[in-house]
Amino acid sequence: MSEKLKKDLLSAIRDVPDYPKPGILFKDITTLTNHPILFASLIDALKTRYEVFNVDFVAGIESRGFIFGAALAYALKAGFVPIRKKGKLPSERLSERYELEYGFDEIEMHTDAFRGVKGAQVILIDDLIATGGTAQAALNLIKRVGATCIEACFLLDLPQLGGAEKLRESSKVFTILNAGLENGY
Ligand code: AMP
Repeated sequence: MSEKLKKDLLSAIRDVPDYPKPGILFKDITTLTNHPILFASLIDALKTRYEVFNVDFVAGIESRGFIFGAALAYALKAGFVPIRKKGKLPSERLSERYELEYGFDEIEMHTDAFRGVKGAQVILIDDLIATGGTAQAALNLIKRVGATCIEACFLLDLPQLGGAEKLRESSKVFTILNAGLENGY
């Protein structure tokens, strides 16, 4: 991916201070996804990166991972799998609980999400990695159904929280942009 594209992507992301709570600088990707050229260029660049692999499925983390994940799945002619917040998936599912700063959260995936494909090759995607708790839980779900995560991909990394670095202990990780000295939530 060119440095010019990275620079344009970074400047298209809107910073919203004190959202959803005081002290958090929210990285708003809607100002990138509503840009027809930049959104398409991002998906094209990811397609180039991943078309050399035999990607069976792209798994996106609710909810902003759905936006990038569904577009990438279409570009790769792969299936799309939503990893959802607790209580949203209707059929038989697996859950992973993970710790937040205050309390716990839980994400879920259908047990037949990968259509019974043995050793399915999966790209995991989300808009942002902060502490990495959500992504680690998503990786655990993928592994528990016997699939393989080729790479976990994030548009933005908040590197001072160390999430991407920690996730690299259990998966390949690709972060496109570095958000600098900001806090997750
Ligand atoms: P974490 O589990 O700490 O890595 O948090 C990652 C999830 O929280 C992702 O789904 C992000 O979309 C969201 N998130 C965390 N911090 C921010 C932020 N500063 N701006 C936008 N989204 C965030």
